[in-house]
Amino acid sequence: MKMWTLRIRTVLWGGIAVALAAVIAVFFRTQGAAMAFSPWADERTLVIDAGHGGFDGGAIGSGGTTEQHINLSVAKRTQALAGFFSIQTAMTRSDENALGYQPGRAIRENKVADIKMREKIVNETPNPVFISIHLNKFEQGKYWGAQVFYSKGNEEGMPLGETVQQCLIDGLNKENHRKAKQAADTIYLMKKLQCPAIIVECGFLSNPEEEQLLQQTEYHKRLAICIVSGYLQHLASTDA
Ligand SMILES: [Zn+2]
Repeated sequence: MKMWTLRIRTVLWGGIAVALAAVIAVFFRTQGAAMAFSPWADERTLVIDAGHGGFDGGAIGSGGTTEQHINLSVAKRTQALAGFFSIQTAMTRSDENALGYQPGRAIRENKVADIKMREKIVNETPNPVFISIHLNKFEQGKYWGAQVFYSKGNEEGMPLGETVQQCLIDGLNKENHRKAKQAADTIYLMKKLQCPAIIVECGFLSNPEEEQLLQQTEYHKRLAICIVSGYLQHLASTDA
């Protein structure tokens, strides 16, 4: 029974992805854009950032789920789907390890080294758009819902964040009334990066139902579809 539900879901989301590709193809044809395979490939690079890694597991759910692995899974699926649309991408990390880790060094020093390397990767990428993937956690288990935070360092952050937020609501749960918000200055990368930059908090590990969803590969695919759809919609609106 469950297998069938899963199969139907896979077919459904596969269908949505194909439909999305068709809509975009038609959009660029009707816009009379040069029909290079990728109209935006040379202009921007989507830097996908899987939060935490290695010594830094991130948030831990009530059922013991660790944030870092889910972030990486969603990030990899986002990259794969973005590649399907010929979006140029870069990953800050593509395995389970933290960046620049040195054994024997204090956790804080390793944390600083990791975050500075992520910053360096973004700054060395031409025309980057930064999307960081994380999970949320709160003391009370009742809070749930994906939410986007955008940096104030670039005026495109807010519209990008709002578009991705809407895609998350439409694609995951229409009862989610969360709005995209400006990230706090205490988040280093959001404060420092000058390119369009957002954090996608994919859901709350502290909410038991959402934790269960966040453990499912199918849900990671849905998250990736929402993120890429939001990014494509944002590109379409800024190129217009
Ligand atoms: Zn996190």
